[in-house]
Amino acid sequence: MLDLLIKSARLPEGPSSVDVGIKDGLIVEIGEGIGQEARYIIRAEGKLLFPTFANMHTHISMSLLRGLGADLPLMDWLQKVIWVLEGEFVSSEFVRDGALIGIAEAIRSGTTLFMDMYFFEEAVAEVAQKAGIRAGLGFGVLDFPTKVASSPEEYLQRARSFIRAFRGEELLFPVLCPHAVYTCSPQTFKRSLEMALEEGVYLHTHVAETPSEVEASLERFGKRPVEHLHSLGVLGDKLLMAHVVWTTEEEREMIREKGAKVLHCPESNLKLASGIAPISDYLRRGIHVCLGTDGPASNDNLDMLEETSLMVKLQKGINLDAKAMDARTALKIATEEGFRAVGIRAGRVEVGYDADLLLLNPNSPHLQPLYDPIAQLVYSAKSSDIDTVICKGKVIMEKGELKTIDQEEVLFLASKWKERIEEFLRSKMFN
Ligand SMILES: [Zn+2]
Repeated sequence: MLDLLIKSARLPEGPSSVDVGIKDGLIVEIGEGIGQEARYIIRAEGKLLFPTFANMHTHISMSLLRGLGADLPLMDWLQKVIWVLEGEFVSSEFVRDGALIGIAEAIRSGTTLFMDMYFFEEAVAEVAQKAGIRAGLGFGVLDFPTKVASSPEEYLQRARSFIRAFRGEELLFPVLCPHAVYTCSPQTFKRSLEMALEEGVYLHTHVAETPSEVEASLERFGKRPVEHLHSLGVLGDKLLMAHVVWTTEEEREMIREKGAKVLHCPESNLKLASGIAPISDYLRRGIHVCLGTDGPASNDNLDMLEETSLMVKLQKGINLDAKAMDARTALKIATEEGFRAVGIRAGRVEVGYDADLLLLNPNSPHLQPLYDPIAQLVYSAKSSDIDTVICKGKVIMEKGELKTIDQEEVLFLASKWKERIEEFLRSKMFN
């Protein structure tokens, strides 16, 4: 008896009608007319079956700050808007409500794994578990005091208790998140590395996002960010580095040799005017590249389909070469490469892989006529065309309806926080 049977879906390459049998979270059979019985059946006539997306870098609870500080560069955006509002509002309640809004958006746009870095991650874990989505969650570590902790030691302690509390969950896994080279001292990075090794978790950080970060690193440490992390021994195959926009040839070779992963966030890098990462060069060298949206306050959404489309077009544009990246490579980076970076066997519609799958409805004028489903997914589709989302064999959205989240509640919470935040901003203006 199967747990789930998808009937008559169309694979983007191959037969126009197949059945997919799912049991214990795994794809166990793909074929025409599977005769087995199933506890649940999805009829997918005319719909396209793809793997789901892995959003490898975000701060999902920042959905509550979406739209604020638009049009500022990174440092102004952080110092004048984000850190001020976070100082006032970040709490367990803020993080939980923000995560609910963000996770609803992520599922609607076909994502079943997100890598998160923020505070009060217990609250994100609670919402992610209820929603049935995978998440790699990390408690942020900084050198300077915030309302969350007063010293690097205290951040690290909180991070360690988080790791210990959430190890061994089915869909969640804890990671460790020293924030960045410009916010963590060499000592903090070394302590984080020690803890990551002791606890057996990934390190997730921000690296070489802007030219000014590189300058500050040269001034403070005499080394560029990647060189600096390399000299501290932090560069390794358990290191997930968001951005990696500004690197030299030597740094790229260090990344390749050590097997560190690049989490590319093209839309955030464009919006904050940070630059365009040389992704096609990284791929040529054999560097493992994944894709992320960054936080929904610097993007300003969690839409991985839009991110995929932007990534591939940017690489063509900056290289003046239509072959610099193709749609198939882009889709692989946005799906399989993300899951693989954290040891999850998903991101392919293949027997033996985890059933992280989406169905897309191509019956809209912007997707017709349909000649090349993969190219048209990347260049023509919108995430609102995604109809059904399955995470490790469980249906979490069907026919456009969220199965594990109450969308009315999401909209209510968003308006509640908008009122509170706007009231604070008005009071700041008059003081
Ligand atoms: Zn980030």
